[in-house]
Amino acid sequence: MIPYGRQHITEDDIAAVTAVLRSDWLTQGPTIERFEAALCAQTGAGHAVAMNSATSALHVACAALGLGPGDRLWTSPNTFLASAYAGLYCGADVDFVDIDPATGNMSVAALAEKLEQAERTGLLPKIVVPVHFAGRPCAMAAIHVLGQRYGFRIIEDAAHAIGARDDGAFVGSGRHADVTVFSFHPVKVITSAEGGAAMTNDPALAARMRRLRSHGTTRDHAEMTGPPDGPWTYQALELGWNYRMTDVQAALGASQLGRLEAYVARRAELAARYTRRLAGTGLTLPPGDAAPASAWHLYVIGWNADDAQMSRRAAFEHLRAAGIGVQVHYAPVHLQPLFRARGFHEGQFPEAEDFYARAITLPLHATLSEAEQDRVIEVLPLSRTQRAGVSA
Ligand SMILES: *Cc1c(COP(=O)(O)O)cnc(C)c1O
Repeated sequence: MIPYGRQHITEDDIAAVTAVLRSDWLTQGPTIERFEAALCAQTGAGHAVAMNSATSALHVACAALGLGPGDRLWTSPNTFLASAYAGLYCGADVDFVDIDPATGNMSVAALAEKLEQAERTGLLPKIVVPVHFAGRPCAMAAIHVLGQRYGFRIIEDAAHAIGARDDGAFVGSGRHADVTVFSFHPVKVITSAEGGAAMTNDPALAARMRRLRSHGTTRDHAEMTGPPDGPWTYQALELGWNYRMTDVQAALGASQLGRLEAYVARRAELAARYTRRLAGTGLTLPPGDAAPASAWHLYVIGWNADDAQMSRRAAFEHLRAAGIGVQVHYAPVHLQPLFRARGFHEGQFPEAEDFYARAITLPLHATLSEAEQDRVIEVLPLSRTQRAGVSA
């Protein structure tokens, strides 16, 4: 099976991990701090708070921004569950903003329109979570302008987008967001096995997220309420969680981070090669323009059943049967049973629903060979006319 995504582990990665295993610190040690500093250096952000997953980082970011019952969080329906769960974990209401079908990202026009309505009804969101779908940055400058006007905070879900750039800055630099969250799950651009991080330029927000990832406790006497019982004391200042990353994971993450730009460059090359070879087929292909520069986590095509004379489902099954590990990103979150039970239904976000109905994610990862990529293209069940459009 040629998988749609997979990790790449080198001997250097293994050496970095085993060095931590032989050290004094398996967790809460110096490797976490080193990884966090490297994430700041890579993105240009002031602060990084590493956690055990992006799901945790999204939750902590929402909690640190004060999201709670009676508040609203808006995100894209074309995402993984965690972008929306973050709101539910805090007891807030979650709603969605439809996508721009050209990119799969939250539509700025749809967001502007929904905000205008929400202002009239007094139901503005406290937090908006744009998701950089497939690694391509959302129109963050425009979303930031709307944030200033309507007073919401912005958490970028950049689980797909570490290494992506927009207008010269790396995603995570925090130019247009309060917090940016990365994931280091093995299918993502770099991995720490499991892991995530919240990036911010706000030192108070960073301190609060750091506290919340570790039971809401502090050892800093300046933060304590009253004098400590003794030098051994920590104080619990607010309810937090154990969302810590281990030093073992951080060692792997830091080692992988050193190869981030090479990985993104290779993904971009392979994506451009898919686009060049498939441009004449009439398939809907991801935008290939140079700016913003995607991290190319995913290469998602839009299947047209009429052109191909075959349904998306049949095409998917054909590819899987031929050993091509295609996937579908994403079943719209609002149509999951959990969200239907909260009143969401078909037809509410038609662009995301249509995108889902046609999406097929082709294999794309840093170690995919051109021969494997050629095999994917060869096995695509195209009509005779479409096949004639495949370039050499
Ligand atoms: C993978 C992913 C997450 C969750 O990441 P974990 O590290 O697995 O918790 C969140 N949002 C998006 C868009 C993702 O793809």
